[in-house]
Amino acid sequence: MLILGIDTSCDDTSAAVVYKDNVLSNIISSQVHVHKDWGGVVPSLAKRKHEELIDHIIELALTRSRKKITDVEAIAITIGPGLAIALEVGIKKAKELALLYNKPIIPINHMEGHVYSALAKNSKGKPDIEYQLPMLAVLVSGGHTEIVLMRNHGEYEILGQTLDDAIGESFDKVGRILNMGYPAGPVLEKIAESGDENTYSLPIPMQHSKDLNLSYSGLKTATMRIINEEIGALNSFGMKFAKSLKALSYLDKQTHNQELEKKNISHIIANISASFQKASIEQVILKVSQALDILRGQGIDIQDMIIAGGVAQNKYLRKKFRRVFSYLRIHYPTSKKLFTDNAAMIAVAGYFNYLNNKILTKLDEINKIDRLPNWKLNEI
Ligand code: ADP
Ligand code: MG
Repeated sequence: MLILGIDTSCDDTSAAVVYKDNVLSNIISSQVHVHKDWGGVVPSLAKRKHEELIDHIIELALTRSRKKITDVEAIAITIGPGLAIALEVGIKKAKELALLYNKPIIPINHMEGHVYSALAKNSKGKPDIEYQLPMLAVLVSGGHTEIVLMRNHGEYEILGQTLDDAIGESFDKVGRILNMGYPAGPVLEKIAESGDENTYSLPIPMQHSKDLNLSYSGLKTATMRIINEEIGALNSFGMKFAKSLKALSYLDKQTHNQELEKKNISHIIANISASFQKASIEQVILKVSQALDILRGQGIDIQDMIIAGGVAQNKYLRKKFRRVFSYLRIHYPTSKKLFTDNAAMIAVAGYFNYLNNKILTKLDEINKIDRLPNWKLNEI
């Protein structure tokens, strides 16, 4: 089964070709540079960029896979969750191609795509991924933080999710205050490496809650307060902490004493980053542990866990998960492109949906396909 996947759910225009669960090509055009100055994704800009790029990206995905559109046996398209007007661009294109070339369509949930990103193989069918269902999927990204029970292919239960900010979003917001650019997650991780994670004790917001939901806005606020207190207090030049990194280059030109102060500020930023990272990841570990306990209590034996989404690239998170859940097989996406939004994961999800007969071949069914901007995994 050769599938063309398309995803325009947010700020990446992506198309991919897969043969079953083997990825033959995965083209992503990121719009980060377009939205960067706005501090977040601007839907109307995203829509326009998708429209500009989509034909070219699909063509590139086909060329890279050495396939022609006529070889494709089905089109997998993300219909939600995501930005309504961005989703529409991909859906319209998928319908156009389906009608023109007489191809069926497989509508896909973007979060289900993230789940399958960890089960995608390369063009040679590697690596061999062994897993047993039911399994747990932990989805951590800039827009989502979800703990999901995958009972079977296409059968999901959301056990817990964030009540406010997503984990990646909290990395981005804290990093922004510290002038780390956008997205700040990877930079913050790097800076945290030289810090002491035990310097500040930050709250783990949902530690004592009875459910499996998470929350990141309180942790973000507590971290901001520490930044304000620590860097504000140290900085005798009266410069605002938000400019602290810029302040460092200014301090470069100053005397020995000020050199010392510069070192202190870098040091403090590293310690704050490390302490924040620790608290933010501890919350996920805690809720996943509780989820596993509850499932065990219900007689559900979990052997395998998927961790996917942009934040799953974080090495500290991976080290912690490896240690705490050493008795589980943990599956991460096996190539860099599969972590963030991409169409290969949508196409692989499409393959498993096809196996479950969730494929639309009739013209009136295809015509009726519509975006579902708030489509939850448990509503599939
Ligand atoms: P979304 O599509 O929901 O915005 P992505 O899956 O594209 O999210 O992932 C992007 C998010 O992942 C950003 O918030 C980014 O800061 C975060 N991220 C990427 N790498 C890391 C890392 N090494 N540590 C922490 N966060 C990271
Ligand atoms: Mg993204």
